[in-house]
Amino acid sequence: MKRRDFIKASVAGTALLSVPTILTTSCSTPAPKEKNDTPLKLSFQSGTTGKEEYAEKFDVMESLGIEGFEPGGRELLENASKIEAALRGRNIKVSAICAGFDGFILAEDPAVKAEFDSTYRELLAAAGQFGSTGVIMVPAFNHQEPCKAHNQATRDYLVEELAKLGEFALQHNTTVILEPLNRNEAFYLRLVSDAAAICRDCNCAGVKCMGDFWHMQEETSDYAAFMAAGKEYLQHVHMASRGQRRMPGEDGDKDNYVDGFRALKEMGYDKYVSFECGSDGDRAQTVPAAVALLREQWAKA
Ligand code: MG
Repeated sequence: MKRRDFIKASVAGTALLSVPTILTTSCSTPAPKEKNDTPLKLSFQSGTTGKEEYAEKFDVMESLGIEGFEPGGRELLENASKIEAALRGRNIKVSAICAGFDGFILAEDPAVKAEFDSTYRELLAAAGQFGSTGVIMVPAFNHQEPCKAHNQATRDYLVEELAKLGEFALQHNTTVILEPLNRNEAFYLRLVSDAAAICRDCNCAGVKCMGDFWHMQEETSDYAAFMAAGKEYLQHVHMASRGQRRMPGEDGDKDNYVDGFRALKEMGYDKYVSFECGSDGDRAQTVPAAVALLREQWAKA
């Protein structure tokens, strides 16, 4: 090829390559958002409806299409047969179990740690019997003393201990669920991504984590927080208003969950979003209004 022809061919080649780039940046319209059919599975804690009897609680929940029930651990052990009877024939399952054990995993005192080990295992076994997604735990609240130092050795210890619990959980077809809180309550574990990294390092399918929209004031992005855990590690979500921890909607415009919901929908999250909040209003109104708000925002996400 003569030098002049080579230059011509090169120029033509460059032009051909660059044309589509120009077209895509200047002429194309964004692709329409794919329809996402991930359903929103809502769950209530035992106090959410404000009703006393299990039959009453579950009647209200069924009328609102709530599919999960999250009892406290102690409550589950004390009322197992009542709960089982009241759930029979309904389209509601036990979602996660909210704590209810004694002691804590990072206790310095061996007696407190032993108390944790036996009571937490008892809850895992009960969770398994109810087909629950897992038992929620916080490694150490700020007020729990004496606590192991917040250092690398303690993190290694936590991973080892969680992996043992995770194996036990798997034997009972359930999981350990780590809950990050905000710094005022539990400085040890504050971010969903940090909890997810602990799950990864445990290398055990029985160790999972969760996000709580109330505590997620710690996060810079709800979307990024949930995505960091992904479907592999995210096992539960807690829901509350974002100012006073009341029913979603009671804090007005602050109660925007669309960014976090978008992550849950995109990853195909198939576990529960469970109410953990009080209410300043009449629950006969505030509870259905909160459910409607969440469904509306889920549809938007
Ligand atoms: Mg919570």
